[in-house]
Amino acid sequence: MSLDKPKHEGFLASDVEALKRSISNNLRYRSGKIPLTATRGDWLLAAELAVRNRLVERWLKSNTAYYEQGSKVVYYLSMEFLIGRTFQNALESLDITEDMREALRDLAVDMEEIINYEPDAALGNGGLGRLAACFLDSMATLNIANIGYGIRYEYGMFKQEIVDGYQVETPDYWLLTRGNPWEFPRPELQYHVRYGGHIDQSGGRARWVDTHSVLAMAYDTIIPGYGTDCATTLRLWSAKATAEINLSAFNKGNYAGAVESKNMSENVTRVLYPDDSTPLGRELRLMQEYFFVSASLQDLIRRHQLNNASFDDLADKISIHLNDTHPVLAVPELIRILVDVQGVPWAQAWALAQRIFSYTNHTLMSEALETWPVDLLGRVLPRHLMIIFDINNEFLTMVAQKYGNDNDLMRRISLIDEAGERRVRMAYLAVVASHKINGVSALHSELMKESIFADFARIYPERFTNVTNGITPRRWLSQANPLLSELIDDRIGRDWRLNFEEIAKLKPYANNPAFLGSFRAIKRHNKLRLGRWVRNNLSVSLNPDSLFDVQIKRIHEYKRQLLNVLHVITRYNQIKANPEVNWVPRSVIFAGKAASAYQMAKDIIKLINDVAVKVNNDRDIGDKLKVVFIPNYGVSLAEMIIPAADLSQQISMAGTEASGTGNMKLAANGALTIGTLDGANIEIMERVGSDNIFIFGNTAEQVAEIKNGNYQPREYYERIPELKQALDQIRDGFFSPDEPGRFRAIYDSLINYGDRYLVLADYESYVATQRQVDTLYRQVVRWDVKAIANVAGVGYFSADRAISEYARDIWEVEPIKL
Ligand SMILES: *Cc1c(COP(=O)(O)O)cnc(C)c1O
Repeated sequence: MSLDKPKHEGFLASDVEALKRSISNNLRYRSGKIPLTATRGDWLLAAELAVRNRLVERWLKSNTAYYEQGSKVVYYLSMEFLIGRTFQNALESLDITEDMREALRDLAVDMEEIINYEPDAALGNGGLGRLAACFLDSMATLNIANIGYGIRYEYGMFKQEIVDGYQVETPDYWLLTRGNPWEFPRPELQYHVRYGGHIDQSGGRARWVDTHSVLAMAYDTIIPGYGTDCATTLRLWSAKATAEINLSAFNKGNYAGAVESKNMSENVTRVLYPDDSTPLGRELRLMQEYFFVSASLQDLIRRHQLNNASFDDLADKISIHLNDTHPVLAVPELIRILVDVQGVPWAQAWALAQRIFSYTNHTLMSEALETWPVDLLGRVLPRHLMIIFDINNEFLTMVAQKYGNDNDLMRRISLIDEAGERRVRMAYLAVVASHKINGVSALHSELMKESIFADFARIYPERFTNVTNGITPRRWLSQANPLLSELIDDRIGRDWRLNFEEIAKLKPYANNPAFLGSFRAIKRHNKLRLGRWVRNNLSVSLNPDSLFDVQIKRIHEYKRQLLNVLHVITRYNQIKANPEVNWVPRSVIFAGKAASAYQMAKDIIKLINDVAVKVNNDRDIGDKLKVVFIPNYGVSLAEMIIPAADLSQQISMAGTEASGTGNMKLAANGALTIGTLDGANIEIMERVGSDNIFIFGNTAEQVAEIKNGNYQPREYYERIPELKQALDQIRDGFFSPDEPGRFRAIYDSLINYGDRYLVLADYESYVATQRQVDTLYRQVVRWDVKAIANVAGVGYFSADRAISEYARDIWEVEPIKL
């Protein structure tokens, strides 16, 4: 941020006439167009810039305020920010949605059309990236001085097409098609990020030499707060080659060679890695992680030096938060900068680090815990490896003093895994360097202390804490579900957007017939809206009076889309066998992407689509059962699907879903959850009431018992006829007559390879609970009363609440005054 104090020349007016003038000027002077020749994209850009200019005023004011007040700043480091669209969110934060609609209408432009023309910024895979985006929104809303640091990927999350039932990935050209009108390039903010080389210790001090470097250039995006003048910054780094092209190669006619090293350097920020829950042993990923961490740390140190003479009080001035382990190289990078560049003594630097860093763990699954081979780290970042060894020595010495020379303990907690190829355990490094470590739901935080960090929780009990995740009610209720929001406003006022606990005031309305009627009509309207989309895009007709049964999230075995499919098949078979029964009509809606290298997840997508073809084309079934897979799940699709959901499927094997946030969004929009006692589902049950949620399946404790015992999935298969029938159909090609063996791997994973996520162990309980869902859905009013109890009960799950806890207990920051 520039420290030039802005001269406030009065804010731009935001009445309809002023907005019209801005839009027309932008169209004319930015795009060189007149209304007659303007495309939808031109109008969108003109309107976006009109909005952006108005945000700039707040942004400059906020930046000035937090500079003048010397506020402690939170630096939120995240590999992913799943922002979605920005235009409508910005309108709402400025409270000019209706004025903009009118301004555009006067210019003969339909605002809905241009809203839907904006591409999603999909710089993330799923929940972790969306959490980071919700948190930025809340930090700005709560006036917390902060910068979100991340990577400006040229290609974000891939676009998913479904071709013949298979997932096909195509690149997301979000920047190429129309640029990003929300960002401000900062060519004056560039840092060298160095790689390779070796360490020269001849002068007594470690010098990292003979490196090659890539330039990191900043792009800033304004993050507007809601109901405040505060606006903060998302600063994303883009890689630029240090030398544009190799001129001598170019002059010799070697055109490919001339651009090769430029392209190699710039590859660092080319693509988002396509998964957030499998290990990636790829050098480029390591380079990416270090790239954004190094640029961010150089930047925040520069900012600190602008108005601080020393580093003595660095820990009172900044907090650095690690969103998962992806940015944990920030730890040795901070030490390197302080010790090697700034001459701070090691002991002081290490003490500062442990007050500055905090870390959020997002998964307990061992295969998702990041480790890097010592060899690779030593080659790419030799100085950082050395610092990690020094940290490890200091840590193990401290432990030995406290606990004696327990070799087994040392081996377990060492930052270096010495078994087999030596590897650095990044999560352990994060724990050793952080003064607070949190899980993302009450259950997950407990399990974290019992499992992966058990030894550390004994050594540093005061460091471990919980902050249950949250979502921003602005995007996920106010923006996604305008009709329900209007109904809520009408009864309890508008304050719930800022104080989500206020939503509890809806509770008495659950017994109010007029409210119930409006609530039902709105849900039906939202279902019609989704139904129209499905008919236009997938050529499947959904009955708006059927139960919309929704599972939307990454496709992963632990999330158990297969359990859902088994229920669908069971239901199909039952309807076929008992056509006379008055079945509750269901529309089962799936959406989600599979990591490109995750074959089993891709098989599951194909299975869902093959089952859909069979079921949807069976005349005996009609609208008693429909199955659709909505392609290319992302933030904007979520905003359309969630308000239309009756039932929210949160059916992970207990102990595997750290929190979930999809569960919160769906409950906030009046869907009832069918779920296991996993992640935040437990806390949702506690808040909405156990009568208003469908819980089934083994608990985390029972799961652990089953896994310690001699689990035999085949016994379930042999014992439960409907289950056997469904699995045999999958195995024998009932849904894939063109290729009968297509789903053999799915069958084998469940029956012959141990059913790692206990799908069969939870099947009976799940199907029985689905029957209770049917029974309740027939009782329209009782269902709606429970749905309203869900909306009224989710106030706790606001990202504002989560961020207040981070601010108070972890970062120890106060809001700035504006
Ligand atoms: C909320 C959200 C998620 C997380 O969903 P879970 O059900 O918690 O896994 C993933 N992707 C998008 C686009 C989201 O909006």
